[in-house]
Amino acid sequence: MFLQGKTALITGSTSGIGLAYAKAMAAEGANIVINGFGDADEIEAERKALEVLNGARAVYSDADLTKPKKIEDMMKMAADEFGGIDILVNNAGTQHVDPVEDFPPEKWDLILALNLTSSFHTVRHAVPYMKEKKWGRIIGTASAHSKAASPFKTAYVTAKHGLAGFTKTIALELAEHGITANCISPGYVWTPLVENQIPDTMKARNMSREDVINKVMLDGQPTKEFVTPEQVAAIGVFLCRDEAAQVTGANWSVDGGWTAE
Ligand code: NAD
Repeated sequence: MFLQGKTALITGSTSGIGLAYAKAMAAEGANIVINGFGDADEIEAERKALEVLNGARAVYSDADLTKPKKIEDMMKMAADEFGGIDILVNNAGTQHVDPVEDFPPEKWDLILALNLTSSFHTVRHAVPYMKEKKWGRIIGTASAHSKAASPFKTAYVTAKHGLAGFTKTIALELAEHGITANCISPGYVWTPLVENQIPDTMKARNMSREDVINKVMLDGQPTKEFVTPEQVAAIGVFLCRDEAAQVTGANWSVDGGWTAE
């Protein structure tokens, strides 16, 4: 339980990869702030389960991260509850698949706000406390799409490349303060985000569901297997260890070999 006494805030943690980070960090004893949307009863059950895992506390914020004021309120709530955030995981994200000429501008704005700009706001609120403590871990869930592009995903690829650049920049700024900043870049992970993009990809590429899974998603992943949320979360936990204190400004692939090609 090497995270006992520390607090981790994970954005977009009511589902998928974010929930896996929350469980993995709770298992190491951290207080947890979960965030995201979903069924209120299910979220409350997850929150309680996190507390059972470690005997520490877990609180929930329903902040919509496309709204800077809501992010500020969430960070203030976390500071009031726990004194501040030691581990910040910028994980919330969404996807939309369409050719550039048909890409709805409101989807572009949503993806840039959620997948990129929200990280700027969480970081700017979290850093003063981390500097005071001379310890902090900032982790962004980027994507193989922070390193390589795919057609029909302009907003997502742009936002994830931006997140990788943002992370490198803050890694340099915070290097002498005991604070590391890194990205983890998964390939395809079987979560609701992936499942939800299958119908649009079927339309954009005129393909069947099976062909989207095998010829689009797993075709680019040399292992031909989906990554699991737990495999992503385990890297996040490692980045919190003292052994990872010199890992900063990195963008760690967990993509079955996708970006090695
Ligand atoms: P998911 O859809 O399971 O989870 C997304 C989370 O974000 C949910 O908790 C949701 O409620 C929350 N969320 C959505 N809109 C929000 C908003 N406006 N404000 C606050 N929270 C909001 O998706 P996932 O696959 O677990 O994705 C998590 C992260 O991993 C994303 O940044 C995604 O881009 C990235 N990623 C996913 C994959 C993949 O294959 N699943 C691959 C690479 C990167």
